[in-house]
Amino acid sequence: MLISKKTPKETVLKIGKECRMCGNCCKYTSGFLVDDDIIRIARFLRTTTDELKEKYIEEHERFNTKILRPKLIQGTKPYGKCIFYNEQVGCTIHEVKPLHCRIGNCNTYGDDLNQWFMLNYLVNPDDPESIRQWRTFLTQNKPIPGGSLKELVPDETKLKKILNYEV
Ligand code: SF4
Ligand code: SF4
Repeated sequence: MLISKKTPKETVLKIGKECRMCGNCCKYTSGFLVDDDIIRIARFLRTTTDELKEKYIEEHERFNTKILRPKLIQGTKPYGKCIFYNEQVGCTIHEVKPLHCRIGNCNTYGDDLNQWFMLNYLVNPDDPESIRQWRTFLTQNKPIPGGSLKELVPDETKLKKILNYEV
């Protein structure tokens, strides 16, 4: 199956159902919160979004875009387990876990699904720095359709300026 930037969220979620819920990814990081994730999780935990944010959520930055995620329990390590992960039961908010966790990014289409998420929620074509950071990502990864630099910034002159740090 070919996944592109424009693949509908519903399709991505169907593919993501391949997630075996083994919890391996939850031991090293947490999934980003988008759309109504915060509201759904707050309702599930019978708390307010403010309290949820204060107790369980932290800000992170990818591709020069600020995004929220469940706090990591890190200690002194550069990585850490998700605050919602429990060794015995797995994800304690499984029913309402964030979209990023629901797309099962380690399955057959994992890399493409991850790119789909980054392109739709993190890479900002209107932000030169975001595009430059995406360019760095593409030095190690082939873009899915809709994710090449030319597709993101079709104006050649503008793209050249961005990549030359002129804007
Ligand atoms: S996304 Fe993959 S690693 Fe993470 S819980 Fe699901 S099967 Fe395990
Ligand atoms: S919210 Fe759940 S699925 Fe997502 S990283 Fe945390 S424990 Fe894992």
